[in-house]
Amino acid sequence: MIFYLSLGGNLGDRIKNLRAAIEKIKKIPQTKILKISRFYETEAWGLKNQPDFVNCALKISANLTPLQLLEKIQQIEFELGRVRKEHWGARTLDIDILFADDLKINSERLKIPHPYIFERDFVLIPLAEIFPNLKFNLHGDKVTKIFGSPRDFNLKFVACVDKNFGLGYKNNLLFKIPADLKNFRNLTLGNTIILGRKTLQTFPNAKPLEGRKNLILSRTIEKFIPSVEELFCKLNPAEKNFVVGGAEIFSELLPYAQEIFLSVVNSEKNADKFFPKFEDNFNLVEIKNFPEFELRRYLPLT
Ligand code: ATP
Ligand code: CA
Ligand code: CA
Repeated sequence: MIFYLSLGGNLGDRIKNLRAAIEKIKKIPQTKILKISRFYETEAWGLKNQPDFVNCALKISANLTPLQLLEKIQQIEFELGRVRKEHWGARTLDIDILFADDLKINSERLKIPHPYIFERDFVLIPLAEIFPNLKFNLHGDKVTKIFGSPRDFNLKFVACVDKNFGLGYKNNLLFKIPADLKNFRNLTLGNTIILGRKTLQTFPNAKPLEGRKNLILSRTIEKFIPSVEELFCKLNPAEKNFVVGGAEIFSELLPYAQEIFLSVVNSEKNADKFFPKFEDNFNLVEIKNFPEFELRRYLPLT
């Protein structure tokens, strides 16, 4: 089922809380984040005299009933330190279900579509970004885009795969094609690359690549970056940030990809690692032909 969610909070580090909530939603089993809006700073609505909120909207697919999803998101609100005091009062995090497919539900515990969507600019403006044909009128409330959404980091993915989107076998890349390596170098030189610890092992002498800032993720080795949340704190949005593997890092970060460069080699290899499925959510916008492969560029569907 496809759900649209509205997230917001006005206590603590509001941007970090939203990003942490998105990470937790991403980890709900059989749930996929399909779209994320930018983050907006918004004036409190309903109950004034409280700090400004930061809000965003998400489109997700989940193999859950609306009530099951409500339980999950309330659990996440709780984990992020929400204390229920007054209705519409200050909170670290609020997650509301806006839509669930075309369902209509009107019970005490759950109302879908959410009853106030069309009264609230702080819901409508982020939602409109990820829901292109939404028809609505705004009310002139103060809603200002602010930096901090995972989308603002403009993550670009680069990989070389075979026809089945195989990436590697036994901790090695499937291909070392000079023209592809040259492309990789041209794209990434002078920029930032993001990789997992195992991918570092595949580099010459297991050393970070020269001429690039290397950001290495690992849950177990202390000197590396332990989580996606921490990664976002270290990324500089003014730089170009390339995610270069491996398979696990690609699938962890896929919801945040803003561009994908795939060199697709026209052969079939033995592979035990694959590039994650992405084609439902991206458009193929360009193909460059090389003798051994085609370089495909994809952008997120709008
Ligand atoms: P509002 O719903 O006006 O935005 P709120 O988000 O501040 O207010 P909460 O205190 O977070 O309200 O939630 C109160 C109850 O609303 C929840 O316990 C939940 O059972 C119920 N609820 C009804 N419909 C929804 C929905 N679509 N999404 C989330 N919660 C809902
Ligand atoms: Ca709410
Ligand atoms: Ca709520």
